[in-house]
Amino acid sequence: MSINRDTLRSQFTDDGVQFLLAQFVDIHGSAKVKMCPAETLDALADDGAGFAGAAVWGLGQGPHSHDMMARIDLDTYTPLPWQPNTARFAADIFVDDKPYAYCARTNLKRVLNQLKEKLGLIANIGIEPEHFLITKNPDGTIAPWDPGKVDTLAKPCYDFKGISAAIGYLQDITTYCNQLGWGVYQADHEDANGQYEVNFHYSEALTTADRYTFFKMMTSQVAPKYGAIATHMAKPFADRTGSGAHIHYHLADAKTGENMFTNEEDPRGLGMSKLGYHFLAGVLKHAPALCAITSPTANCYKRLQVGPGLFSARSGFTWTPAFISYGDNNRTQMLRICGPGHVEDRTVSAAVNPYLAFAAYLVAGMDGINNELHVGDPNLGNLYAMSRDDIYKRGLNTLPQSLKEALTALETDTVIAESLGPIAREFLSVKWREWNEYHRQISKWETEQYLTLF
Ligand code: GLU
Ligand code: MG
Ligand code: MG
Repeated sequence: MSINRDTLRSQFTDDGVQFLLAQFVDIHGSAKVKMCPAETLDALADDGAGFAGAAVWGLGQGPHSHDMMARIDLDTYTPLPWQPNTARFAADIFVDDKPYAYCARTNLKRVLNQLKEKLGLIANIGIEPEHFLITKNPDGTIAPWDPGKVDTLAKPCYDFKGISAAIGYLQDITTYCNQLGWGVYQADHEDANGQYEVNFHYSEALTTADRYTFFKMMTSQVAPKYGAIATHMAKPFADRTGSGAHIHYHLADAKTGENMFTNEEDPRGLGMSKLGYHFLAGVLKHAPALCAITSPTANCYKRLQVGPGLFSARSGFTWTPAFISYGDNNRTQMLRICGPGHVEDRTVSAAVNPYLAFAAYLVAGMDGINNELHVGDPNLGNLYAMSRDDIYKRGLNTLPQSLKEALTALETDTVIAESLGPIAREFLSVKWREWNEYHRQISKWETEQYLTLF
């Protein structure tokens, strides 16, 4: 049941809202909007704001195509804390009055419906949005944002001086998120200079996807107030840790809300139910193809590296997984069981489109549940401390080491490809083009390494 329109209209009056943003995403998860006067509420809810699909990445359209309509979801009313006369509504794309299968949000809703209809379950997901504040140097290079020159430690995680430099920014973000009822419970300086994370409570998958999208909108608007640029790129600096968007999740009974991943009597002693283990088995089985969607840029694979890549030059561990593994409360695993019925996936990159990722992720897990896949023994050791040979002896494979490897896996994994519906073809075409463009570049490293070597 959607919120009543008259209630919303009086809310607009109370909040001083005069403009509405009908907001959707392109295939990269980047926010797109149409701005309309608040008086158009009925039209936006009944029909939507029209736009040209071919102007947006990955919507399966050519220049001749029908108008797309961004039809707002009334339950997503979000006054912009930094521009309070304006409110954003997340929108679903409609064409000819029908939900449009190329809309990432509509696709996620389709998968969530399957989860509910077929298994009686809902997905609760939290996300950890790591990101950097940076500045651009006159020569076009970038540097961590650090006007007071205090955020220079090689191991800056949780550093008081580091966080103090950005305290205004972090407090604005925290206040804004909490104004919207997101329940921020902490913010910190991360492992790299200029890198921060703000944690808010988990919600149902669709809400978390909407919030992550809005979070990126918010950082893009707040950072410039402090003379910085916020980036959710996965690995802006080769010698510093990258930005993850780890997800924490469980499936819950749709009627009672009970966490169905929990079993205190788990014979493995990790507090997980059979259903939970089957879900994890599905995720591990599909991990290579899934990785294309959870780490969707050429740059993401600089973050997820094996071997020396596990260590960043400045601060030691990069804390990213490199192997397809699950284990106990141990941050070297791809899937970390943090406690009873509570799983973290550490693969996901900040550059993720959360709608696509959650849909693919849930389909992978449902495949594990439907086929009662076995997860095998947990890895209880520190994978960073083992040799690569020992890791392979355990039967663990690496995560894809390049976008090319991940896209190749996605091409042959029909379960994951189908989780995106027709978006899969668009995704593959946009991403192969991205890979090819990237691969054609000649880097400084190459010329330094090879120019006079022979
Ligand atoms: N920045 C790390 C990553 O790229 C994660 C660090 C952490 O565990 O918070 O995944
Ligand atoms: Mg973190
Ligand atoms: Mg984490």
